[in-house]
Amino acid sequence: MFEHISSDAMKPLLFGIIKSLTPSEYEIEFIDERVEKLPERIDSDIIAFSVETYTAKRACILARKYKTEENIIVMGGFHASVMPDELLGYADSVIIGDAEGSWEKFLSDCKEGKPCKKYVSDETKPLCVLNDDPSIYKHSYYGIGVYQISRGCKFNCDFCSIKTMYKCVRRKTADMIAEELKKSKEKIIFFVDDNLFYDKKSAIELFRKIAPLKKKWACQISMDAARDDELLSEMKRSGCFLVLMGFESLNPESLGEMNKKANTAADYDEIIKRIYRHKLMIYGTFVLGCDNDREDVFRRTFDFAVKNKIAVTNFNPLIPMPGTTVYSRMEQDNRLIYDKWWLSDDYRYGETAFIPKNMTPEQLREGCLKMRTDFYSFRCVVKRLFSNPVNFIPMNFFVFVLANIISHREILKKQGQLLGGILNETDTDKT
Ligand code: SF4
Repeated sequence: MFEHISSDAMKPLLFGIIKSLTPSEYEIEFIDERVEKLPERIDSDIIAFSVETYTAKRACILARKYKTEENIIVMGGFHASVMPDELLGYADSVIIGDAEGSWEKFLSDCKEGKPCKKYVSDETKPLCVLNDDPSIYKHSYYGIGVYQISRGCKFNCDFCSIKTMYKCVRRKTADMIAEELKKSKEKIIFFVDDNLFYDKKSAIELFRKIAPLKKKWACQISMDAARDDELLSEMKRSGCFLVLMGFESLNPESLGEMNKKANTAADYDEIIKRIYRHKLMIYGTFVLGCDNDREDVFRRTFDFAVKNKIAVTNFNPLIPMPGTTVYSRMEQDNRLIYDKWWLSDDYRYGETAFIPKNMTPEQLREGCLKMRTDFYSFRCVVKRLFSNPVNFIPMNFFVFVLANIISHREILKKQGQLLGGILNETDTDKT
């Protein structure tokens, strides 16, 4: 998002995917700006960027910097898939949708000297088997492996970008993922699927397949999975130690507004107790600033997270991501503060990008920031650590402490940072 060496960078899954799809005749080097400084020049025939909405401005600035008469700049990833024409102002080609299929076609077109402007992947392509060659990474990423079993989600929450990118859910078989994990030297794995839980039968088959591998793993799941004791017990038995779940709101009206079908705020306490009975830690995410949220939402949500001893949280202001229902609604109602906040030279990380209904944009920004700083204050970390016996299982203790220290450090480093740098220099700036 900006020039800043980050301490919370996860291993980039896309390096392994691109490596798997690239024929061996091509020489390829991966650079992760979150953990290394970029070179002044890149002497390569092709420079490829993976672009999310939050990193779009940075990618555009870097594309301008590295573009020469000879090279080809290509952009892919979520933002390229949703806003391809915007990125074609900075790139020679864009890949819309998954890399599988399109990346290989793009490379062979480059070889012929005729790359197209747009490559569109079709969603029927099976997900590739990951070639996670350790030599492509220049950083250890805390020794945590990153894997993906599925793409897409069975739900359609209106603030979430997933449905914009994937209309259906595609999954690897349990055998495929077990094969990938067998080759991995990492003992701790994070499954980055937006929602690992598709249905009970396939989930149990997967958990039983990975149990003998003796990995410790974490994942993101929807709330419906956490209502089932058998599922939770199989997860624990197969090595799961943490589940990331979107609580989003305690307000039933806000959950309705978000189309958050898996959640009923009334059973949150019961769900949390059930998860703790299975000795799993919780990473809870919350979205604040919906039309039904008023000023008291910050205090109520914060108290809930502390009372329930949640190990790690994200308190996020609602953000209109391009392509989502929220974005269209805000645009229609004339409530967007920036024209494309992601490319604006005024928008800063943590700012509110729309006009909330029942609070000011400043109240939303400050409310979320206060929740984050209070939650990761020394006092609150100690209180949450010692009040929950689940944290004292050795693996959990290590994860709790590390995650809380990193979150404490990263909050203030990121808040208020200008995304990417300056994209639209005026003539006055230049002089
Ligand atoms: S359940 Fe999670 S991943 Fe699925 S649509 Fe909702 S927010 Fe997105």
